[in-house]
Amino acid sequence: MPIIPEIYNDCVHFIGKIMFFSKSRTLKRKIYKLLKSNKLMPVIMPFGKHYNKSIEQIALADYSYFYNFLVHDLLANEKIYTKVLEQRIAFVEHNVNNFVSVKHCVIQGCDNPAKIISIYQSREQNTYTQKYYTGRHSDTGFIYCSHECFTKDPHVTDQLQKVDLREIAFHSALSDLKSDTKELVEIMAECMGIRKTRRTKKYLEEFFNTL
Ligand SMILES: [Zn+2]
Repeated sequence: MPIIPEIYNDCVHFIGKIMFFSKSRTLKRKIYKLLKSNKLMPVIMPFGKHYNKSIEQIALADYSYFYNFLVHDLLANEKIYTKVLEQRIAFVEHNVNNFVSVKHCVIQGCDNPAKIISIYQSREQNTYTQKYYTGRHSDTGFIYCSHECFTKDPHVTDQLQKVDLREIAFHSALSDLKSDTKELVEIMAECMGIRKTRRTKKYLEEFFNTL
């Protein structure tokens, strides 16, 4: 069962009182250990499609939902009534769009942190719906510290009109197709320094808290 942060805080307060009045040392020790292990408390989504995931996990797994629904609908329109939840969404949104890349510019001899990414855009058609959409792809081989370094890249030769040079940030990942957004978010996460596997609530919470 998920724990709603505000209830959790009440529980901590209540447990604190028990500790104060309790005479059992074993009980006190057990409670103390429990509180200590829960000191870092990831903020969990209490409703919706991503129920029971932490805010950080949602941003990584489904950034279009995070951005369009949590940030631009709920947060912007003050529809969230839990302060802790509201603060965490704003905090995560800020951090995924304002970080210094741990990955460096790919141009040989340049050692600056990468700031921009070249995203290749192509017009594609869905075979079932016949609708056109913009496919967007990239990888960590196309990240640069500056526009100047981008122009020096020998790998970039033709169809420059299809290149979308964007800041390395989660915003830049948003695409027509969810799978493209996901692919680009992965690249941004790699630039942030987030490990690929075992993205537990606790790991991600600690990662974001130390940014
Ligand atoms: Zn560079």
